[in-house]
Amino acid sequence: MTPEEWVEFVQSYAGPEEFEAWACKTLNIPKEMLYIAPYEPPPREANGKFLCKYFGCLGEYTSKQGRENHFNSAHLGFRAHCLDCNAVLMNEGSLPRHKRESCTKRKTG
Ligand SMILES: [Zn+2]
Ligand SMILES: [Zn+2]
Repeated sequence: MTPEEWVEFVQSYAGPEEFEAWACKTLNIPKEMLYIAPYEPPPREANGKFLCKYFGCLGEYTSKQGRENHFNSAHLGFRAHCLDCNAVLMNEGSLPRHKRESCTKRKTG
């Protein structure tokens, strides 16, 4: 798998299961073989914080949501994030439409 193919692959991830489990299932490989995914538990103490599990990433977050937002945008390629409902979108261009049509926190009237 080339880096480009890998990026394409992670961008097709839409949840809701753990990324690792999803990757193994989708690629049909045992977990031990997931070397292609630079993805392993962080060696550091969490100290109540949520650490980004992406290999080599030092991201630390005070909330699970914060970590997810970071993971989605930094590692999965989601580029936009609705501040109202925390939805993640593939690009900034989808944001106005999301706010208009599918945001759970959108204002009515
Ligand atoms: Zn990270
Ligand atoms: Zn929204």
